[in-house]
Amino acid sequence: MKSITFNHQNTSAIGIGTWHIGEGNNKKTESEMAAIRYGLDHGINVIDTAEMYGEGKSETLVGNVIKNYNRQDFQLISKFYPYHATPKLIEESLKASLKRLQTDYLDLYLLHWRGQTPLVETVAGLERMVKAGLIRNWGVSNFDRKDLEELLSIPNGENCRINEDLYNIGSRGIEYSVLPWQKEHHMSFIGYSPFGSDDSEYLKIQPIVTEMAQQKHITVHQLLLGWVLRNHNLLSIPKTGSPEHMESNIEAVDVTFTADELEQLDKAYPAPKHEETLEMI
Ligand code: NDP
Repeated sequence: MKSITFNHQNTSAIGIGTWHIGEGNNKKTESEMAAIRYGLDHGINVIDTAEMYGEGKSETLVGNVIKNYNRQDFQLISKFYPYHATPKLIEESLKASLKRLQTDYLDLYLLHWRGQTPLVETVAGLERMVKAGLIRNWGVSNFDRKDLEELLSIPNGENCRINEDLYNIGSRGIEYSVLPWQKEHHMSFIGYSPFGSDDSEYLKIQPIVTEMAQQKHITVHQLLLGWVLRNHNLLSIPKTGSPEHMESNIEAVDVTFTADELEQLDKAYPAPKHEETLEMI
């Protein structure tokens, strides 16, 4: 598995997304657990979850899988709601997440998106959790460049390790300033929803994608994931509840593009020419 430097560590180029898992019947749950196991057994060493996902059901399912793995072998990321972003509520949320995940620490704990709580309070709460040994590091999600700059201006804001934003071929806004800013500040980037999530409304597949995938003897999903990973040092976290799809996503890590192919895709999905409002799902 191709590796990247993420959160100051050598990490697989894709992580395991877990939104909407653990919410279905037994058969679906079995397949979702098998998919995560397949990923962990074939070189993926990051899992992304959140207290929001199924109101804890995703974390519970992840906990049931990872209890059979060596905890030091992968990085575990979870996120708390913006309305749990005070020091007291962060601690409560974190302890509940750890219980569901059947572990005693997270590698990264993220503010899921910005809310009403002043960032200074949230950072103080997160730093307290680092000192308590319950999280190794912390980060944010759905922050744009201005949010990140504000974060860096407050005490200990520079300890933010990562920012996680939407990134796929149809949502390229972060390429203009968020990605370059994070590179300059040595902050790792996670791109979520590489396939545009479950809903085709989020990502319109242009004919060139289907044609190019056929020419390259890969699936449309492999093309989309390979494109996200094409030349940036970032972590993409596709979600799948199917072991077969997980296998296919792992193979996509090795997809390459010629300059001509990238140009054709740029024509269908142009790169941003100015700073855009951050897109979120
Ligand atoms: P994705 O873009 O990962 O798309 C998931 C969809 O793609 C599912 O319907 C899945 O179906 C399908 N799929 C996956 N692999 C394949 C394949 N090889 N072939 C065909 N279909 C496939 O959507 P998400 O929105 O879930 O994003 C990924 C992760 O990012 C989330 O799970 C979550 O961890 C994170 N996220 C974070 C957000 C944030 O605010 N920080 C917001 C949104 C997502 P199937 O299961 O059947 O394979």
